[in-house]
Amino acid sequence: MKFDPYLNVDPGTMSPFQHGEVFVTDDGAETDLDLGHYERFTHAKLSRDNNWTTGRLYEQIIAKERRGDYLGKTVQVIPHVTNEIKAAMKKVAQDVDVAIVEVGGTVGDIESLPFMEAIRQMRQELGREHTLFVHVTLVPFIAAAQELKTKPTQHSVKELLSIGIQPDILLCRTDRFLAKDIKSKIALFCNVADEAVITAKDVASVYEVPLVFANEGVDTLVLKCLHMEAKDRDLSKWEDIVHRVYNPKDTVTIGIVGKYVEYEDSYKSLKEALVHGALAHNLKLQINWIEAEGLETAEGDKSYEAQLEGYDGILVPGGFGKRGIEGMLLAIRYAREKKVPYFGICLGMQTACIEFARNVVGLAEANSSEFDPATPHRVIYKLRELRGVEELGGTMRLGAWPCKIEPNTLAHKIYGKSEISERHRHRYEFNREYEEPMTAAGMRISGSTPDGTYVEMVELPDHPHFIGCQFHPEFKSKPLEPHPLFRTFVGAAYEYGVKRRAEKETTAVEMFHRPGKVRV
Ligand code: GLN
Repeated sequence: MKFDPYLNVDPGTMSPFQHGEVFVTDDGAETDLDLGHYERFTHAKLSRDNNWTTGRLYEQIIAKERRGDYLGKTVQVIPHVTNEIKAAMKKVAQDVDVAIVEVGGTVGDIESLPFMEAIRQMRQELGREHTLFVHVTLVPFIAAAQELKTKPTQHSVKELLSIGIQPDILLCRTDRFLAKDIKSKIALFCNVADEAVITAKDVASVYEVPLVFANEGVDTLVLKCLHMEAKDRDLSKWEDIVHRVYNPKDTVTIGIVGKYVEYEDSYKSLKEALVHGALAHNLKLQINWIEAEGLETAEGDKSYEAQLEGYDGILVPGGFGKRGIEGMLLAIRYAREKKVPYFGICLGMQTACIEFARNVVGLAEANSSEFDPATPHRVIYKLRELRGVEELGGTMRLGAWPCKIEPNTLAHKIYGKSEISERHRHRYEFNREYEEPMTAAGMRISGSTPDGTYVEMVELPDHPHFIGCQFHPEFKSKPLEPHPLFRTFVGAAYEYGVKRRAEKETTAVEMFHRPGKVRV
């Protein structure tokens, strides 16, 4: 679980530029993106219980206070806030062998103090043999002096000690391996065993981390400190992943047309899911982030096409608000007409429907009521609001929803089953009033909620690979379990790329042999 010391109740309303991606769990919690890493590495199923901010803790405490639950007592940080923090930890620890609790921020921050005090008390309550403190510190390399500095580590451990926490293991963030004498020096000054000073060296791929830590003996040490027995470690699957990372057979190039593209953390899970898809085919992934707004040109000006050329696949990811929509529509039209594999996620599915309605069905003013509330053809609209669901609290369709997949569709081929469950985070939906004209013009609705209310997947049968989904499959992809939608999209993109390159070569050779032509 992760504790975030900031005052927002959850990251749901924070700007993607400030906070990075909002990771959504099955139960519909909008959480810190670190929970995505936790699920990708451990395969644990996380929920809203696994992410707490100071804001959410206080919200709960103040609600209790207003209800009179504290029976007139003075409500204070210690013990009331710290008790809530401890209760939150105990709740997730109920059915597991070990609960790993991360406290975000930096030692010494005012905001993190109640969390530090709570974990200090946990050790008092549970005993040394049932608790373990792992502290992440910095060991910078000073280039001018050509030496590693242990001072920042010493200082932050001192700071921790002043609030009553003696770390057991130090994960030292560094860009090179720490020699034995440096480790001994840190161990001596920080009161830990030599073997507990761990090199946490920068790695080129985050999926190397389990191997690097295993190599440093972190797992063995953790088990020893917690007095636990475990089966022999089996790292073969991670070794295979890392082998693939460093030995790709070829490269696949994907163009992502979105609006928060200059800040990669806002699409963290998306990027990882594409990496998983590429690794499944033993490919190196090359992502090009294309700012959607930058594609928008004057009517009839096709110069944007140059920006879209050369990709093996085009993807439009999730997003909110009007900015960049016209650029996304141009990219989708390009992918549809030129038969470039296309994958639209959430907003990327909605824009695919708008593009199809405008340019194939002929409804020139088709739009989503999110971008043009007065549109005569709201192909995408706020269905929940119309049904009065909005009043019930949450404004978004969040978390896991079941989806029924139609037989004989690309979606069915991809998943290999007819019932799936995927995670959502959006307000707007496909408007079924347009189902008839859209399907008559060649679009296929391949997935809907079992009651038929919400459209979940669309595709174009006369295109080699054009698929859109209303949900966010990227949240469920893992390196050891690549999501089928990403695996097949990257596969189709690579196949298209190989064919395109081969065709280009033949044309070049043909031109070269044509008498009288100098153009090659
Ligand atoms: N803005 C769209 C909606 O709210 C899409 C959201 C998304 O892509 N996550 O429905």
